[in-house]
Amino acid sequence: MQTPRLPKSGPNGEHILNPESFNPGLMAFLDGSPSPFHAVASMQQALQAQGFSDLDPATAWSVGHGEKTLITRNSSSLIAFRLGRGPLTESGIRVIGAHTDSPCLRLKPSPDVRRSGVLQLGVEVYGGVLLAPWFDRDLSIAGRVTGTDAQGRRLSLLIDFQRPIVTIPSLAIHLNRDIHKNRTINSQQEVVPILCDLADRTEAGFQKMLVDQVQRQHPESDVQTVTDYELGCYDTQGAQRVGINGDYLTSARLDNLLSCYAGLRSLLDAKGDQTILLVCNDHEEVGSASAAGAQGPFLHSVLERLCGDAETLARVLARSLLVSADNAHALHPNYESKHDPQHQPRLNGGPVIKFNANQRYATNSVTAAAFRDLCARAGVPVQSIAMRSDMACGSTIGPITSTAVGIDTVDVGAPQLAMHSPRETTGWKDPVLLYRVLRELFESEAL
Ligand code: ZN
Repeated sequence: MQTPRLPKSGPNGEHILNPESFNPGLMAFLDGSPSPFHAVASMQQALQAQGFSDLDPATAWSVGHGEKTLITRNSSSLIAFRLGRGPLTESGIRVIGAHTDSPCLRLKPSPDVRRSGVLQLGVEVYGGVLLAPWFDRDLSIAGRVTGTDAQGRRLSLLIDFQRPIVTIPSLAIHLNRDIHKNRTINSQQEVVPILCDLADRTEAGFQKMLVDQVQRQHPESDVQTVTDYELGCYDTQGAQRVGINGDYLTSARLDNLLSCYAGLRSLLDAKGDQTILLVCNDHEEVGSASAAGAQGPFLHSVLERLCGDAETLARVLARSLLVSADNAHALHPNYESKHDPQHQPRLNGGPVIKFNANQRYATNSVTAAAFRDLCARAGVPVQSIAMRSDMACGSTIGPITSTAVGIDTVDVGAPQLAMHSPRETTGWKDPVLLYRVLRELFESEAL
């Protein structure tokens, strides 16, 4: 598997405190993480390179003070933490939460669709995809496959075709004159990527191509068959700085790999002796109800095992804070009316605190004030958002984790446009501004 080499921080970590030095690492992470599995592998590799060791969920744990540890679930969710020297019941745990998944098109188990002289791939829509921007893009395919080797052993591997192998062409405007009046997209009929021409040859089908790719990418594995997979399409265009003055950053999966990366760097760079923990869950975009998702027991079980018993866990949680980081809707200049006039976060304006009286966000006045203090100490501007009262509110892992674990939580996020498009936009300065305040959370003496 190809994973990006993430830059290490300098002796003081200072060289990554501006966007010019912070963003190249983020962009490498975005480009190298086309699936949640790849995102977790990238994070795991960066953590291991800086001394984090893997914990086996199937064995008894004994994690000593000062130790740095990580654990994964389903290879698509990750928890990593550094234990401080003091008793947890006095210090509590500072937690950053984010999610590894992004809305996309996932291949169906029997994907081959043969019609009109071409071989196409049937896909399922994963999460709340903004479908229109998936048309006319040079798409590739990546994710996890499970198969057997020559000895009949079952094994799972990550694959990434890395080159454009499918596309979903639009219907020409001449054949659809009304398209700009009232567009609907039928995902079963219209969102079917084209893989190859069948006119002058017979293709064995995608399964065979998949085995060939696994053998090319993992020759040492001796894989003979692939029976199952979790594969998604992704746009091959890499992350890019955009704007005449370079004010913006465009990429796939900014929601929410931007937050995963800011949290990861904070964990890697944080000095001091606080007990700090990063949790990155899969399945947020489909409601978080899974063993690896925020509604599942992953974080709770890790905290329980760290604390030893229910009494200690309750005491530790009473002194802990979760900063749940997931991108926020910035004000779009072409759609100003979509925001409440008093709550219009701007790109490059810094992290956004999310409020919702109906608890779609877990922020309360105490946790919001704590986050504002962290921003002030980090010298980072802070914004806030509440939805228009006549519009529904989204949600995130913050309230779900808070409900499952019982930890005080503030929901925040970097401002972005075009959320759930395969090409999203954030401010060039926003990732490092989020990083600076998350790192302050991990380093500060007081909350
Ligand atoms: Zn998100």
